[in-house]
This record gives sequence, structure tokens and C-alpha cells, in this order.
Amino acid sequence: MLGYEFDIKKVIETIKQFDAEVVGLQFPEGLKVHATKIARQIEDETGSTVIISADPCYGACDAADVDMKDVSDLLIHFGHTALPIEYDLPVIFVETKSDMDVKGALISAVELLGAYKRIGLVTTAQHLHLLPEMENFLEENGKEVVMKEGAGTQKGQILGCNFSAIKDLDADAFLYVGSGNFHTLGIKLFTDKPVVIADPYINEARDIDEFADRIMRIRFARIAKAMDAESFGIIVSSKKGQSRMELAKVLKKMIHKEKKEAFILIMDDVSPELLTPFMNIEVFIMTACPRIAIDDANMYKKPLLTPQELEIVLGKRDWEDYEMDEIEY
Ligand code: SF4
Repeated sequence: MLGYEFDIKKVIETIKQFDAEVVGLQFPEGLKVHATKIARQIEDETGSTVIISADPCYGACDAADVDMKDVSDLLIHFGHTALPIEYDLPVIFVETKSDMDVKGALISAVELLGAYKRIGLVTTAQHLHLLPEMENFLEENGKEVVMKEGAGTQKGQILGCNFSAIKDLDADAFLYVGSGNFHTLGIKLFTDKPVVIADPYINEARDIDEFADRIMRIRFARIAKAMDAESFGIIVSSKKGQSRMELAKVLKKMIHKEKKEAFILIMDDVSPELLTPFMNIEVFIMTACPRIAIDDANMYKKPLLTPQELEIVLGKRDWEDYEMDEIEY
């Protein structure tokens, strides 16, 4: 099992400070396996009763404060950094630090970055503590590292839906340290610059170009398919951190102006099954997590578009001005 540091000492001190009788715990999917061990330790050391949220958790956008507000005094949310959202009870965000060694992947990444000099260095919450070490390594290898804070994110930190930490960053290329294609694809679509991923979990680096091209071809096929649609379903999330009702209303007006029909659908988790009763609608627009339209496209029978893709469909935006959708926190 991969190692993560949970900072339980701080958690226990916080629970004691709050004098909490009941404590809610929430973990992202990859960390849920640690939940019972942590719950046992908290109950033993504080005397509090622990309630573990067993629902899926996709990010800090998805804190279980509403579920926990009537049954606990405090919610401890592991694995994500705080977002500027108003919660229904005190929520303490506890970063979990990965103990992965990133050096091997960085060595390969430097080779792939080749002649690119100014490198925008980014990662996610669990590797943030390694940024100074990574920055030093890159500089020792002739690179100039550029980073900045984002709106609601720390220096060098990105989310799958928020790239403010790299917006307008003067970089020749970006280096993402972490696993999988999810965040790297977001950086590529957001910046359209060279992006290399240094993956410490498999100790290798790769570029994302071929994968991003494949995704863009799918996006353009979905947009083309939506061109003749007369009815649109605009999906809004009831999760506080994903809710963009005002945007949905703007999109509905925009669609009506083109003499087409639009319905706003509100839901918590979005899934193809929940859309089954609405198959008389031709195209769905996603104002919840922006990544659902991009990453889960193949799961949906009808085109599922981002707000910017809808603008292309309605002739309000040129294809060349394709933009990644973001949630601004
Ligand atoms: S909205 Fe989507 S991408 Fe953004 S934090 Fe939530 S789950 Fe992640």
C-alpha cells in the first residue's frame, strides 16, 4: 500500500479544541481504506464518536457538510486543500502527504523537457510539500522554474477544474508531478503548451500530446453532433463546490435566443442512469464538475458539452477559440 502521512496528531488536537462529541470523517476514494484505522485511533484518543462518510468524494468541492451538520459537531475532510466555500458546520481540511520518491520520474522528465528552459511546475495537494525539492532539482539541471498561487489554490497547485495557478504563467512548457492523465490533460487543454508528466507511482515521464489529440477529436465530434439540436438539458450540481446556477440561467437564455428549448436539471451525483428519463432531450450541458463532459464522454449516449462548447454550437465562439471549462472559486 502506498504511504500517506495523515497528520493525526493535529486532527486529535483539533477535535479536543472543539470539544467535539461527534466527529465526521470524509476521505477521497483512494484513501477510504485508511478510514477505520483512523476512526479507531480518534475514538480511543479523544472519546468522541466518529461517523465516516461512505458516499463517493470527488474533491474539496464535495465536502459532506450538509450530510454531517445534524449528526456531528465537526467534519474532518482528508486529502484535499480548503476551497473558499461556506460550510454548514466547521470543516477542517487535512492534507495527506504522499511519501513517494519523485526523483526517478524527475530525471526522465528533464530529458523529455529537452530544450525548454522556463518550466511551469505544478502538482496536486499530496505532493505540494515536495515542490521546493523538485524546484531545486530542476534548477540544478539547467531549468528555470516558474510558479504562482491560484485563486483558492496554493502556489504550484492545480485542481482538475481550476488552473488559476498557471493562468498567464510565462512558461515554455509545463511539468506536472503526479499520477494518471487527468490533471495533465487539463493543463494541456488549458494552456495548449507542451506538458510533461513525471509520474512517481510508475517512476517514469511521458508527454500527453497523443492522448490530448484523441480527446480533442472526441470533443469536436460531440460539438458537431450537437449543431442541429433543438433541445438542451443544462445540468446543475447541488454540491456547493460545483454549483453554478447563475451560469446555467445565462446559458438557458442564450439557448432561448436561438429559438431552441432548454431545461435546467439539478442533481447531486451526475450519472448516465439519472439522465435516462430525459432522453427526449438531444444535448446536455454540464455546469457541474467540468471534467465529467471531457473525461466521461463515452459513458453518455447524448452529447454532453461544456458551456464553452455550447457557445461554439450556438455560433457565439469560434472553434479556434476552444477553451477548457473552469470553476472559479
Ligand atoms: S469540480 Fe471536479 S475537478 Fe473540480 S475539484 Fe470537484 S471533482 Fe475535482
